[in-house]
Order: sequence, then structure tokens, then C-alpha cells
Amino acid sequence: MEFINEDYIFNLINDNSLKNSEYQSEVLVKARNAKGLSLKESAALLSISDPELISELHQTAKEVKEKIYGNRLVLFAPLYITNLCVNNCLYCAFRRDNKDLKRKSLTIDEIKAETEFLVKQGQKRILLVAGEHPKKSDINFIGEAINTIYNVNFNGNNIRRLNVNSAPMTVDGFKVMKSFGIGTYQCFQETYHYSTYKKMHPDGPKRDYGWRLYAMDRALQAGIDDVGIGALFGLTDYKFETLALLSHAFNLDEKYGIGPHTISVPRLEPAFNAPAAEKPPFAVSDEEFKNIIAVIRLAVPYTGIILSTRERAELRRELFELGISQISAGSRTSPGAYKESQESLHEHEMEQFQLGDHRTLEEVVKDCTKLGYMPSFCTACYRSDRTGDRFMELAKTGNIGKICVPNAISTFEEYLNDFASEETKSIGKDFISKEIDGLRNKSTKNKVIKMLERVDSGDRDVFF
Ligand code: SAM
Ligand code: SF4
Repeated sequence: MEFINEDYIFNLINDNSLKNSEYQSEVLVKARNAKGLSLKESAALLSISDPELISELHQTAKEVKEKIYGNRLVLFAPLYITNLCVNNCLYCAFRRDNKDLKRKSLTIDEIKAETEFLVKQGQKRILLVAGEHPKKSDINFIGEAINTIYNVNFNGNNIRRLNVNSAPMTVDGFKVMKSFGIGTYQCFQETYHYSTYKKMHPDGPKRDYGWRLYAMDRALQAGIDDVGIGALFGLTDYKFETLALLSHAFNLDEKYGIGPHTISVPRLEPAFNAPAAEKPPFAVSDEEFKNIIAVIRLAVPYTGIILSTRERAELRRELFELGISQISAGSRTSPGAYKESQESLHEHEMEQFQLGDHRTLEEVVKDCTKLGYMPSFCTACYRSDRTGDRFMELAKTGNIGKICVPNAISTFEEYLNDFASEETKSIGKDFISKEIDGLRNKSTKNKVIKMLERVDSGDRDVFF
């Protein structure tokens, strides 16, 4: 754990010179260049207390996000394949000692049914999620599940990118996972604070802090070059967690020339029979949460920031502004829940934690467009070999938006044609026309118009 220097991080948090508003303003000016920040500079921004500087922080984060990614928001949904787990994380309902949780592991047929449900909603990206179990989420079963998901096809619609959030593996295990054609491998450290980590993970394989901390190193060594990190906010001091999370990102970038493809910012939610979730030891307020997201956006401008449906719709709307680039929508967090929610069974008895945003994908899509964000179902980079250093090069130089914007528009048009109600279709198409009118680069504009003509004539999966 040599790159998580607890003493150094606490010194930064307590350093009064970083609380100086003149210095904080200077850091904000530097941040506007979208070239990233050091740990010390990030600590200074996390210490801002002056309300005027806070709004400047938020405004800067918004500008930087738009500069790199444009106004697009990439959508996905999680698919839980099992809630069986050998670990005992104090914050999670899936913990082994929760004897009251109804346990369920999906069969291959059930995984197919869940995927069909998501494909019929219009989803193109799935995040496969699993508890840690030697049989129900071992690498062979995950492989079968991935194959099943990729093979579902409904009128030419299918899942085009599958990311995985599962227990960390050996390098050889990750090599096998890569061979299944996954997009991003995600694993959250939960808390980077060593003694808190030990307290929260009383037993099971996850108790090994170092094994988890170096999971991304092993994934990268195995050739999975899009990796996603995260921390579960609420377990320890949020300033410590944010700076440690950034230390992790910087370390990966220094060692491999590739920073994390995504950073997730789950906040602790109530969970059934999970003592640490009932009363978060370091609950993070909405205002603090906004600052966390803004600082991450400025410190690592090239990284996608993911926001899940743990958060309420009203807050999500505000957080989009501050640098979020990927969101889940229409999510359920228990195995089999998509199918069951249609049949109104008891999904809550099996879910991992409670959700804050219960809206359907279409409701979220409509809301995004009304707010001025382009919903994107794009999965182009992974399939055009723009992963790892190739993606980072485009993101770090601010060129990824030139690809994202046209691809977002064409995949949104496809969604509108195939899945949207008449009302959403009309709102969405209107939004697309305005976006096209606003494109300043003539050749991009022509390209987009041609892409849309192809989509409207029935072509699918049109991207560049
Ligand atoms: N079991 C694997 C693991 O723990 O890495 C993979 C998936 S786990 C189901 C996904 C994530 O859910 C965890 O990494 C954790 O951050 C998050 N989580 C667990 N309990 C939560 C809660 N009560 N509120 C919000 N997020 C939670
Ligand atoms: Fe298991 Fe993951 Fe939940 Fe921990 S967070 S109990 S490892 S599913």
C-alpha cells in the first residue's frame, strides 16, 4: 500500500496554508486548463468553505466536463447474477451473516431473461454485478453469463458493451476474463483507510486490503486496459477517501500510462441487516458530495465519473452538472429483479441496498434531454480498439468529445426510433436537431447528418 500514504493525506487535510482562498483561487484557474491537479491542489479545493469559491468550483467542474466530453451522458444498467456471498462486509445486505436475506443465483436461462428485459428497454450496456461465491460467481460461470448476455438479440438490438464488477482475481483469472470480451473491469476499494477497512470487513477473502488494492494492477497486467476504481463514501472521512482515491488514480497513471477509465462514487445507502449502512459512520452530506464530484472532475479530467441510482433524481440532476459522464438508469439491485418487477414479486427481500432513483430508463432519458444532456448509448470505443492508452490519449488531449458527440447523437436517434414513446421521440428529435444546428465544425456536422440518415433508414449500430 505504498501509494496510499495516510500520514501525508492527513497532513494535507490539516494544512492551514491550503485553506487560503487566494491559493484556492489560483488552483481553480489552473484547473480550468483541464490538465489535472496534484494531490496537494486537490486537497486545497476540498478545503474550500467560502460560498463564492464553492460556486466557482462547481462552475469550473462543469466547464471542464463539457470541454472533454461535451454534454453527453452515457447510460447503462446493472445486472445482478447472484446475491450469495462469502464475505461479511458490514455495509452490505448480501453479507454472509445476513441469514434473513432471500438468496438467489440466476441460472443461465434467467440471465437470458433479464438481458432480454434490458434490451427491450433500449439498454446497450450492462454492468454485470455479483457477490463473491466459489461456484455462483466463479470465472467459468461469469464466462457463461457474459456469453449469454452478448448473444441476446431482439429485432437487431443487443448488448454491445458488458462491464464487470466482481471480486478481484489473479492475473491468470483476469486473462480469462479478458478473453470473454469484457469492457471495463470495476472493483471499489470501499475505504482506503486501513483500520476502517479491517473493521468493515471482519472476515472472508475481502478482508485482505492489499489483495484488493492491487486488483487493478493485476487486471492491467492481464491486458484488461479499461479499469474502474471507486470508494464507498460514508465509511470514513470523505476528504481522506477522495484524496486516497485520487492517489490510486495517479499511481495507475504513473505506472502504466493509463489512469482509471472510470471512477465511481457510491454513497452508503440503507441496506437490510447491514449495521454500517443503518447509520453511516461518516455520513456525507449532499453539499459535500457535490464538492467531491467537482474535485475529482478537476483532478482527473480524462476519467469518466459514474453515478448510480443510489442517489435521488433531484440530486442526480445537480450532479450531472458537476462532471458526471456515465449514469445507470432503470436499475434493480437484486438478482432476477427486472423480470420480477414486472410481475411485482418481492425484490426488496433480495436487494443489495435501497435505491434513490426508481425511474424507468425512458423517464431518465426524457429528463436528461430536458436538462440539456444528450443521452448516449454509445459503445464505439471498446469495439474500435480505442481502449487503454488509445482512449486516454484522446481523453487527455480533449479530443474524445469529437467522437463522443456524433456517436451519442446517432445512438440516441436509434433509441428514439426503436424504443421511445411518441412524446419522448418528439422531445428527443427536437433536441437532436438543435444539437446538430449548434455543431460548429462543418465536417462533423455533415458526418452526423449522414449517420442519422443511415439510422433512420434502418441501419443499426452506426458509429465512428
Ligand atoms: N461483491 C463484489 C465486491 O464487493 O467487490 C462486487 C459487487 S458489490 C455487489 C458492488 C458494490 O456495491 C460494492 O463494491 C460496494 O461499494 C457497493 N455497496 C455495498 N453495500 C452498499 C450500500 N449499503 N450502499 C451503497 N453501496 C453499497
Ligand atoms: Fe459481498 Fe460485495 Fe456485498 Fe461485500 S459488498 S458482502 S463482497 S457482495
